[in-house]
Amino acid sequence: MAASNSILLNLKTVKFCTIHHSAVTPGARNIDELTARARSYDQYHKVKADKYSFPTKTKGEYGYSYISYHFMIARDGSWLQTQDEKYARYHASDNDRGENSHNLHGIAILIDGNFETEMPTDAQLKTAGNIIRMLEKKYKWNLNVEGHSKTALYYDKVNKVMYYPEKAGQAYTQCPGKHLLPLVKSKIVKYANNPSPVGVVKPKNETCKEKLENKEAQISSMIEQIKNLNNRVVTLKRQNEVLVSNKTVNEGRIDDLRKQLSKCREGQKNLKENQVRKRVESILKGILSKFR
Ligand SMILES: [Zn+2]
Repeated sequence: MAASNSILLNLKTVKFCTIHHSAVTPGARNIDELTARARSYDQYHKVKADKYSFPTKTKGEYGYSYISYHFMIARDGSWLQTQDEKYARYHASDNDRGENSHNLHGIAILIDGNFETEMPTDAQLKTAGNIIRMLEKKYKWNLNVEGHSKTALYYDKVNKVMYYPEKAGQAYTQCPGKHLLPLVKSKIVKYANNPSPVGVVKPKNETCKEKLENKEAQISSMIEQIKNLNNRVVTLKRQNEVLVSNKTVNEGRIDDLRKQLSKCREGQKNLKENQVRKRVESILKGILSKFR
C-alpha cells in the first residue's frame, strides 16, 4: 500500500540515500550494457508498479517512466541518471513508516550486479561516493547512506507491528547483497567525503623519448611551414613589381592618348575655321564678280 499519492520529493527534507543491487549476475560492464539493463528494469518496475499500485510513474525526463532508482552504476564506474532527484521513488520498502519513509526523503542508487555472489568494483563504489557528494553539494544535503536491507521494514501483520529487519530476526530483502552491504559505510560514505576521481580518462603516459620525438616532429613541420611562407612572400613581391611596372607603362600610355586627343581637337578646330574662311571667301568672290 502506498503511503502517499505524492510523487514529488520535498528537496529541502531529503536526508537519505539508499544503496541497492540489481541481483542480476554479472553486473553491467559499461554504459552500453547499463543502458540496456535500465530499459529492462524500467519494464520490470512497470509491472511491479501495477501490482502494488504505487504511483511510480513520472514524466520520465531521462526516458524511463517506471524505474525506481534515481541513479545506476556499471562495473567500470560509468553511471546513468534514470530519474530526476525531484521524484519520490518507491524502493526502500518502508512505506509503512508513513511520512517518515525513506522513499519520501531519499534518493535511490543502484549498483548493478548481484553482490550475494560477486564483488562490486572499486570504480562502482567511487562513483556512488561521487554521486552522493555531487548531490550533497548541489542541494546542501547531509545524506545518511544505507543499504536497502537497513531501510526496509518487516511488518508483523498478526501483531500489526513494524520492525527493523534485524529486530524481527528476518531480513525483508538481501539487497544490496552481503558483499556490498558492509562496503556502504566503509567505502561509499568514505569516498563521498573524500573526492576520488573515477571515470576520468587519463592521457596516455608519454615516455621522454616519445615526447622528444613528438616535439621534433612539430618543429620540422613548423620549419616547413616557414619555408612555404617565405616562398610565398618572394612570389608576392615579384607580382607586385610587375604590377608597379605595368602601372608606369599604362600611365605613360594614358598621357600619350591625352596628347593625341588634344591634337585631334586642335585639328578639328582648324578644319572648321578653314571651312568657314573658304565659304566666306567664296561668297565674297561671288559678290565681287557681280561688280565687275
Ligand atoms: Zn534494493
